[in-house]
Amino acid sequence: MKRAASILLAALTLATCVAGTTAHADDPANWTKPIRPYRVVGNIYYVGSEGLSAWLISSSEGHVLLDSGPSAAGAKLIEANIQALGFKLSDVKILINTHAHYDHAGGLAQLKADTGAKVWASRPDEPALEKGQHFGDNDNGLTPFPAVKVDKAFGDGQKLKLGEITLIAHLTPGHTIGCTTWTTQVVDRDRPLNVTFNCSTSVAGNVLVGNKTYKTIVADYRATFAALKALPTDVMLPSHEEQGNLLAKRRKMLSGDVNAFVDPTELARYATTSEAAFDKALAEQQAARKP
Ligand SMILES: [Zn+2]
Repeated sequence: MKRAASILLAALTLATCVAGTTAHADDPANWTKPIRPYRVVGNIYYVGSEGLSAWLISSSEGHVLLDSGPSAAGAKLIEANIQALGFKLSDVKILINTHAHYDHAGGLAQLKADTGAKVWASRPDEPALEKGQHFGDNDNGLTPFPAVKVDKAFGDGQKLKLGEITLIAHLTPGHTIGCTTWTTQVVDRDRPLNVTFNCSTSVAGNVLVGNKTYKTIVADYRATFAALKALPTDVMLPSHEEQGNLLAKRRKMLSGDVNAFVDPTELARYATTSEAAFDKALAEQQAARKP
């Protein structure tokens, strides 16, 4: 039973982020299920699939696109959503992403080819994007994806400015070594809102005990949980639907709730829940790897 339970856990973890094949046959169906794109708050639009986020931040001088879907087909879904909102693909000027896992980076090469946009990536995630392969010891294996040339590699605190947009990169490593949480401020209904696009914080198969290629992984996770708890956030926009109940919020919005996406305590709660799951996984790995 214990082995069956651990296999089930591994399967669930796999579904959350990292899988071990290139075919992606085990991907959740909602990762490729189209939904109607919509404006979230201010100049931020949801252009992803039902289960995988992609965010367009618009300006009068062009747009920034955050995350890419899992593949070239995922990129095409995002492109159709951008066009359905009335935006031009050629006006997408900069592609950024939360982290170098295939479900958020697998469509970058296609998007770059179709838009002509520049790709920005955190310096620690740059090699994985350019190799097209997840970095670090992972019990789920390494997952190849179409490699993409990075035009600008940046460090913690990097500002991205385009027209009226200012985005700030916060390196929140652990889930990947270059996991990047982006923040911005928008004005929505005459009120300023702090928006955070948080990078994933799940363990997702990462080796936490004796990781030979990513030795600081545990300390990095710990620092990330502390950083996310301290980040002022009115609107949390995660990279997976289930991390922020995005569908439920969208339904509330459609029923007239103008605050559907506003929840100033959500990010801290999310970080606390993630930390508890991390502590449990760490204890299990420590117990399993004792001689
Ligand atoms: Zn991931």
